[in-house]
Amino acid sequence: MSDTRKPRILIIYTGGTIGMIENPDTHALQPFDFSHLIDNVPKIKMLDYHIDNIQFTPIDSSDMGPEGWNDIATAISENYNDYDGFVVLHGTDTMAYTASALSFMLGNLHKPVIITGSQLPIGEVRTDGEENLITALQIAAATTFNGDPMVQEVAILFENYLWRGNRATKKSADNFNAFKSHNYPELAKIGLGIHFAEKALWRPTEKKPLSVNTQMDRGVMLLDLHPGMTQPILHHLLNTPGIKGIVMRTYGAGNAPTSRWFIEEIAQAISRGIVIVNVTQCVNGGVHARRYVSGDILANAGVISGHDMTSEAAITKLMYLFGLGLTPSAVSTRFNTDICGEVTL
Ligand code: ASP
Repeated sequence: MSDTRKPRILIIYTGGTIGMIENPDTHALQPFDFSHLIDNVPKIKMLDYHIDNIQFTPIDSSDMGPEGWNDIATAISENYNDYDGFVVLHGTDTMAYTASALSFMLGNLHKPVIITGSQLPIGEVRTDGEENLITALQIAAATTFNGDPMVQEVAILFENYLWRGNRATKKSADNFNAFKSHNYPELAKIGLGIHFAEKALWRPTEKKPLSVNTQMDRGVMLLDLHPGMTQPILHHLLNTPGIKGIVMRTYGAGNAPTSRWFIEEIAQAISRGIVIVNVTQCVNGGVHARRYVSGDILANAGVISGHDMTSEAAITKLMYLFGLGLTPSAVSTRFNTDICGEVTL
């Protein structure tokens, strides 16, 4: 097979546990030099792909944020026409935020962006990193029967499953199956083979050129409700300088206290132009704003339903929409649309 007919995959290495290897002299874990990737993971040669890699300064994903997302999105857009697919190696801790952010930033994506990492360093004997990396490469190279990319979205591959990136959440700090999408089925199940759930895969309606928007507005925050929260604390949080959007994590089907002071604080924040989105603290299910009186009061005060979105998707969607320079009312309207499969409306 000539080199031009081999799948061309670009690996973007950002850091995390996957990139660690034990120093043979000191036995300390240190970042792995990805320019020697094939020497360290020789099985990759068996894939017979053309693989290149870009290595960023490796970071723990706790340090990942809008600048890092910008770097990843820019690397993908600059190399978009030269590769069939992209594999992003990333720490697991904030992987779901990065996957969500990239799904919004990479508009009109038609190629696979597969994010993976590992629970054990790639240099350890029992590592899950080698298998995750190889499976991610195979998924990035997979095509449909007519030669289109099988995956045309940002997805997280971890152990036995491929999940939509903006639907996934890290669910375990110990288990090899560390991710799950609680409100959307898997995109593929990995066992002896890779079985794609073709009906679950995102398919863009029109074929438009990739349009990347890397402006993410940081004037947003998550607000986790808990019983006993006081008015001064809520007042302080809602009056945080520079705040434009809040993802409020409520109880059950989207419920919050019905006390007058609570609703007044929320209504005043909305009247100051702050966009407040309601998502549930439950791992499964979503907000049904009109099911209970308390949810109904929030909706009447102008709180927007986040439906069944993850917190990760909701906060990055707010960053993205404010990053477009939209007014609060335009952000609210756009929030209620499905941009890239992040919500069931
Ligand atoms: N703390 C690491 C990170 O997120 C954990 C991991 O890679 O799994 O970068």
